[in-house]
Amino acid sequence: MMKQIVFATNNKHKLEEVKSIFRDSLNILSLNDINCHEDIPETGMTIEENALLKARYIKEKYGYDCFADDTGLEVKSLNNEPGVYSARYAGEEHDSEKNMQKVLKNLKDKSDRSACFRTCIALIIEEKEYLFEGKIQGNIIPQKKGESGFGYDPIFMPEGYTKTFAELGNDIKNQISHRALAIKKLINFLQPTQ
Ligand code: IMP
Repeated sequence: MMKQIVFATNNKHKLEEVKSIFRDSLNILSLNDINCHEDIPETGMTIEENALLKARYIKEKYGYDCFADDTGLEVKSLNNEPGVYSARYAGEEHDSEKNMQKVLKNLKDKSDRSACFRTCIALIIEEKEYLFEGKIQGNIIPQKKGESGFGYDPIFMPEGYTKTFAELGNDIKNQISHRALAIKKLINFLQPTQ
């Protein structure tokens, strides 16, 4: 029988992205699928800690093997901000537009616009905990470009490309993204023969 595992998210962009990477090799359940409707605390000081907090919460409360991810945009000349605060950089309302404008404003006088997206995935399986990291280097462009994706995609241009994540579209993004790299490590761990 196909292995079943909870991905501790209800973010439909992420679910689609992760399901498209896994294809039919794993049956991925969302938080909705297990009737978990509460806000899982994300009080960690690092993305590693937040990923672990979410995975432990599901394992302890619902008993499922699961994995959880946490992602941050780390901008070098902003001391790696927004980092763990990426979702709420411009305030608690989690407004992507305001978050992007804040990054662009803070970078206005900086010559170094290099940045990376970093994803950590915490996996809890058979009572053991594992961490997987995926990272993609790039630059923050001065103005938004492109319509697809979410979050900071319109201002992030991955190294080696002349388009932002939002212009590249989900098919290409899902092959090269921070999350895709972390998920590939997770897949290799779960299915070492594939
Ligand atoms: P989370 O930990 O995956 O929820 O990510 C935190 C925040 O980082 C999100 O609210 C987005 O603003 C941003 N983010 C995460 N992944 C991506 C991505 O693939 N593209 C653009 N922004 C992202």
